[in-house]
Amino acid sequence: MRYAILADIHSNLAAFQAVLAAIEAEGGFDEIWCLGDVVGYGPEPHACIELLRDYKHVCVAGNHDWAAVGNIDVSDFNPDAARACRWTAQQLNAQDIDYLLNLPEKLVLGDFTLVHGSPRYPIWEYLLSASDACDNFGYFDTNFCLVGHSHVSSVFVQDKFGNCFNVGTADEIKLASQGNRLIINPGGIGQPRDGDARASYMIYDSNAQMMYHYRVHYDITTTQKKMAEYKLPSFLIRRLSYGY
Ligand code: ZN
Repeated sequence: MRYAILADIHSNLAAFQAVLAAIEAEGGFDEIWCLGDVVGYGPEPHACIELLRDYKHVCVAGNHDWAAVGNIDVSDFNPDAARACRWTAQQLNAQDIDYLLNLPEKLVLGDFTLVHGSPRYPIWEYLLSASDACDNFGYFDTNFCLVGHSHVSSVFVQDKFGNCFNVGTADEIKLASQGNRLIINPGGIGQPRDGDARASYMIYDSNAQMMYHYRVHYDITTTQKKMAEYKLPSFLIRRLSYGY
């Protein structure tokens, strides 16, 4: 089975479509594992939810998903994110709201735990450094944990002696290796933040027990034009060009 590991779509339909097309061109997938923040920031929240729901998929809740439906407070958001969040809330229909409200905080699928932020604090915590990640290996029972939220592709390893380190990102990740446990972030689709503007995602091949990391170009200006049309914050529009 091939699983598309997708995080932080963030209402960026052009990026989401480009990722799906790229995966189709490379042999397709059986199911999407979505790591939250389907909405927020970008111009097409409803269309992104609808497109995701066209596919066999599972999805966990992100902070933007729950903020858009009032399940958590936007007071912790920066002003641009809060403004985009309030705009997002107005674009959702009753089914969208119901869908987002019912997303779980955490899913356990075989050897994988799926959360948006971290296993310790699934909605809010960012895993950016080895020290953040090290503490978190104690908060899930499976060998592997998939996270999003930082919009930066990364791999954290805990070896069989309990040592923990950040191996950065990798094009290919061998899952069953020397008793290592892994926390893996596929990077963000709709608003990458690692200095590369291309959408970032991974494929999990369960037969090979491998994860593969990909970047794909999408038409950034299409998304930016729509954001400008809806008067979304200019910083959120500009940052897409640079991937920060
Ligand atoms: Zn996000």
